[in-house]
Amino acid sequence: MPAKPRPTQLALPVEHFHEPRRPDCPWCGATRLRPRKRDTFPIDECVDCGHAFQNPRLTPEGREYHRRAAAAPPGAPTFRHLRAVARAILPFPEPESWLDVGTGTARFPVAAKRVFPYTSFDGLDPTRRVERAWAAERVEEAYIGHLTAPDIAARLRGRYDVVSMLHHLEHTPDPRAELHAGLAALRPGGHLLLELTNPQSVFASLLGRWWHPHTQPTHLHLIPPANLLVELEYEGCTIVTLDRHTPHTPTDLARATTHALSRALPAPATAPFTATATLLDRALAPVLRHTAFSNAYWVIARKG
Ligand SMILES: [Zn+2]
Repeated sequence: MPAKPRPTQLALPVEHFHEPRRPDCPWCGATRLRPRKRDTFPIDECVDCGHAFQNPRLTPEGREYHRRAAAAPPGAPTFRHLRAVARAILPFPEPESWLDVGTGTARFPVAAKRVFPYTSFDGLDPTRRVERAWAAERVEEAYIGHLTAPDIAARLRGRYDVVSMLHHLEHTPDPRAELHAGLAALRPGGHLLLELTNPQSVFASLLGRWWHPHTQPTHLHLIPPANLLVELEYEGCTIVTLDRHTPHTPTDLARATTHALSRALPAPATAPFTATATLLDRALAPVLRHTAFSNAYWVIARKG
């Protein structure tokens, strides 16, 4: 029997790896959808609740292919940004145990350890990168898989003071199930720390198909803050922080420039344009982060 093709050796172009298009919103079930972006990886938006989602979405094989292709994305969060995320937990009781979900190589636990040196950090990731992070003593315990998997969910139930998910829910097939699994891993009174792309950023409409979250086919869902807050409150949580400004990551213009020019020009020719866009991103950030241009938000919810 021939070997099953590896994700990096797909026999067909990856755009063939789509699931059937869904007729309703995966968040609220409404059937009034409007196209938000139309190309190889279309994104629809729910007219009723504003949830945006890849439709039709890639199959798990297609997502794996793109995840590998994007192994070193430009504009990955800086150490300084990650430390700022951790500091958002400072107003609350010092955590003894912390689980970072979708941790990858555990860059966030390493940054957060600088802020919370006495906290024990565990990491969970679907890839073996977390195993390497454990071997390098970046996390105390490493879990390979998904938080929604029954064996992992049973093992981690009620164990943590903090569960963090940084730009994680956007990449999961079922963000609501993932959110519930995150809450289940918390002790009563523990805090869920979320950082997400804000689909309502003005950059989304201004840059359109060139806005990074629109070009990146591993973003399966873009969740408006209000939807998340309603869900968390429905689950009995208290929202203790909603910050739409501090987490703004000033890379929108540089990434859009890279995406737009990479089709027309060889990489060396795009470099001066990208460098100029990077300067502009940084120069505008102190002002834009306080406006509707801000491209990310934090939610901290206390489990009831
Ligand atoms: Zn909806």
